[in-house]
Amino acid sequence: MPTPGKPMKTTERIIGPLLALALAAAEATAETSGAGYETFPVFPPFPDVAGATGSPQGVGLDFNLSATQSRAFWDFPVNGGLPIGATSLEIEASLVADAIPAGISIHLRSGGVWYDATPPGLDGARRRVGVPLRRFRDAAGAVCDATRTEVLRISIWSPGRPMSGRLDLHAVRARADVVAIAELGEPVFLDRCRALFDRAGIPYADLDASLQDAGAFEIVVFPQFPANPGIGTAQPLRNASRKGTAFFAFYTASPLLSEVLGINPGEWLQASSGPWTAIAPDAKRLGGFAEIVPHETGNLIPPYEGPGAYAAGHWLERGGRAGRIPACVVSDRGAWFAHIAPHPTRPACEWMRRLCLKFSPDLAKAFAVSALMEDEALLEARPSPAPGLAEAVREAVARRSKLEEVPLLCAALRDAAAASAAASAAAPSNEWRCVWDTRAPGRTVASWRATLDKLADHGVNAVFAFAQIGGSPRFAPPSPSSSAISLERLVSEAAKAGVAVHAWMQVLALEGADRATIAALQAEDRLVVAPPGSGGAPWLCPDQAANRQMLVAAASQLVAHGVAGVHLDYIRLENPGGCVCKASRAAFEKQTGLKPEAWPDDVVGEGRFARDYQAFQTESVTALVRDIADAVRGATNRVALSAAVFPDRRTALRLHQDWPGWVSAGWIDVLCPMNYELDPAWFEVRLDEILEVVPAGRVAVVPGIGTHASVPGPDALAAARQIAACRRRGLAGFSFFYLDDLLLESILPALKLDDSAR
Ligand SMILES: [Zn+2]
Repeated sequence: MPTPGKPMKTTERIIGPLLALALAAAEATAETSGAGYETFPVFPPFPDVAGATGSPQGVGLDFNLSATQSRAFWDFPVNGGLPIGATSLEIEASLVADAIPAGISIHLRSGGVWYDATPPGLDGARRRVGVPLRRFRDAAGAVCDATRTEVLRISIWSPGRPMSGRLDLHAVRARADVVAIAELGEPVFLDRCRALFDRAGIPYADLDASLQDAGAFEIVVFPQFPANPGIGTAQPLRNASRKGTAFFAFYTASPLLSEVLGINPGEWLQASSGPWTAIAPDAKRLGGFAEIVPHETGNLIPPYEGPGAYAAGHWLERGGRAGRIPACVVSDRGAWFAHIAPHPTRPACEWMRRLCLKFSPDLAKAFAVSALMEDEALLEARPSPAPGLAEAVREAVARRSKLEEVPLLCAALRDAAAASAAASAAAPSNEWRCVWDTRAPGRTVASWRATLDKLADHGVNAVFAFAQIGGSPRFAPPSPSSSAISLERLVSEAAKAGVAVHAWMQVLALEGADRATIAALQAEDRLVVAPPGSGGAPWLCPDQAANRQMLVAAASQLVAHGVAGVHLDYIRLENPGGCVCKASRAAFEKQTGLKPEAWPDDVVGEGRFARDYQAFQTESVTALVRDIADAVRGATNRVALSAAVFPDRRTALRLHQDWPGWVSAGWIDVLCPMNYELDPAWFEVRLDEILEVVPAGRVAVVPGIGTHASVPGPDALAAARQIAACRRRGLAGFSFFYLDDLLLESILPALKLDDSAR
């Protein structure tokens, strides 16, 4: 466990025999395959550079940053630039540090100009991280000519506190990719697509929106294909398709793509009762892969099977059966998805890998290497958590056959190791084993009964049930004739299963509220007026007494429903600028006696009262927490007050969420830092930062584990290691984000929490 502030010892890991074999196999084929997925070594051999020490596996870059020195960097001269035809830079590295860096950046100096890019996450596992060359931009946004690269610079940025650690750089390669993701569609859809491919270990390049180079790739992915893609894109698309390029199209109704792929989109569909929540892959079409892919959406443009095309997955219906609406249809020219890319959960990654292999079978080697790197220690462990599985991996690698099965075999091996990892530290008595449920009010009584039984069977004993948005209830009122569940009914059903219900309030953000409610609040000028250039989503202004009274009353109402606790979420502002509405201005002037003349310029950015205003807004949120705490405590039945908070307290404070202050004042009983990390080591680093400001015994700390957060989430084994980290620190418990099929059907059964505690 890293100790903050002290340099950390890192062990130099010599590569295991299995991985060595796999790497040799993959490299041999990559170099000889001629066309397609190719890599060109840049380093090793590594040049001698200042601050780098040689190691058997590359170079070690040690860093020790103080509070004043914000970055460490190393420059590697590159002779002769990157090869023509290279589309990505691949860094093979692992990073161990005692704080989570604010960022890692890579710069290329080409023709005397610096171009920079941010690689996807590096952590303690040895990973091959790809950065598409088009991602390298100069200050004006121009794309780098990588063939003229002179210097490669790697920088690590401190998070505003002392930090030390080591980056082990094993290799740097240029890569000619077979997969490209087009720079098309809404930025948020593009980001989701990249996050999925990054996490799945599917190497890809970026393709510019003109699509002129589409024919250079075996697979081109459209994160969302616009109705009018722009003049001149149709011809390159048709040409590429004729040459054999396959297209993956997410969430589109484009007639052009329909013509090119031979797949027809259906009508736009909206969910009538509750969203679609998961996809059942078609095991027969996907080499036996059948794990449920979690994906929540209220609307779809489903594709339909035409001649020669088939569905590779269907949306699940209520009750957990595969329904009739296709989630993805595959033809010999590509794949068409009914919605945007799913979040990067493990099943979603495997689904996408299997679909890619249909068009680019050589990728199996890259997938195998990436899985072997991540699970090397587990594969070499003696005794093995599952000798049969480890042996099957060894055989596939040695024979260089069925390499496409390696990621799934490794996944099964990880699941087999999960239960003992969770049990490696003793659980406290009355451990809080919770789950957030965003869909709580939408489930029927029958579905709740089944869900509660499963939760109880798997050792989960509390649910944060989504109950309010901005003070408006989400649960149906009690009614004997309705199949919808009321909060009272949920409390009583849960009690039968031995599960506690905490009512979850989405306090200040109004996202998801009825339009009429938002319009009514807007008409009364009760919504946040964000400073120019920031935010814009509907939030309640925390400076107005009417809003505070409404929220306090709403919290009291929840207590009256017999819940075990009230849970505060979105108890902050949307952005650092906060709210600059008229009421906020009046409250600020009254409270501080200051008289800003230029509004809002005086109170935002570098304005002369900006600091005072920041403090004033934070105080408003803090006062709201205090008032809710008073109301909840004043109730006759004692309930627990909990709050979901940003784990990084600098981020929290910037958004006016002073949770260390709430804890010291004794207003909250349970602190739930949303510690959504993939890597258990990062989870621990973050946890220790939190515990620095939370004195032992002051509050129950119940960290959130991001099993299905929007960032790559832990699977059962990584979650188990995070649970063990909580237990080693004597914390009160943990909470999963969130209640879905992935948690119920895959993660909880592997964790066997009941074996390790009761
Ligand atoms: Zn305001």
